[in-house]
Amino acid sequence: MSPYRGRLAPSPTGLLHLGHARTFWTAYQRAQQANGVLVMRNENLDPQRSKTEYTTAMFEDLRWLGIWWQEGPDVGGPYIPYVQSRRREFYLEAWRKLVQTGFVYPCRCSRKDLARSAQAPHDEDDEPIYPGTCRPRHAASGEIAVPESPARLNWRFRVPDGEEIAFADGHLGQKSYLAGLDFGDFLIWRRDDVPAYQLAVVVDDAAMRITEVVRGADLLRSAARQLLVYSALGLEPPAWYHCPLMLDATGQRLAKRHDALSLRALREQGRTQEDVVAMLR
Ligand code: GLU
Repeated sequence: MSPYRGRLAPSPTGLLHLGHARTFWTAYQRAQQANGVLVMRNENLDPQRSKTEYTTAMFEDLRWLGIWWQEGPDVGGPYIPYVQSRRREFYLEAWRKLVQTGFVYPCRCSRKDLARSAQAPHDEDDEPIYPGTCRPRHAASGEIAVPESPARLNWRFRVPDGEEIAFADGHLGQKSYLAGLDFGDFLIWRRDDVPAYQLAVVVDDAAMRITEVVRGADLLRSAARQLLVYSALGLEPPAWYHCPLMLDATGQRLAKRHDALSLRALREQGRTQEDVVAMLR
């Protein structure tokens, strides 16, 4: 078995809160227990929503919490760059491969889910099932000519309707999703030339040799989508470990809007690192 490589993949689109802290703490502990390496990747794919002040804050807050990583934008490592906005070439290469092999098709629809596709779809904002307006009637056969650039068109992954995508989650057990029913043809690239989360995360986890992905349970359905991308690109998928979500008093998933529960706010209220770690149990 290859040595354990885990990752932290925060997006600098807001302050990290207790929910992130719980997932990242688990990721840190699992890497430590396995004597492995933890990689920090700045997922600043979305140019509109990513902010430098949040990047600074997420690094500071995680360090304050006592989480250490061995590779990342601040410490370097063998798989640089660890910042998504600087990894365009890797995403383009994967896009080319997917076009050439007929796994993706161009789409001219303008829908509101497009705007969010550079971000991971946490359950309540998951992409709606695409009705198939631009989907070619038949899956492509033979090699497809690849345009110069993906820009000016959206690109969607054609999911194998009715196929069951099953995997064993290290924490939640056996999971299974039906392509075309639990999720539809999902975005790979946006017409304003921004790669989509589903493509970038697969390309990066594979390139950085991640052996286990630890993240929130609201990305379970995305794991099924990502397995299709791994297979289309001929890449080995990682193991999955999805953590239960932290909920607020009304039962809602903690989100970046819960600023009162941000690590920053808790720290400013005088909570210590030990207090916060105790709150994660
Ligand atoms: N950058 C994503 C987020 O913050 C994480 C996605 C993942 O772990 O795959 O939501």
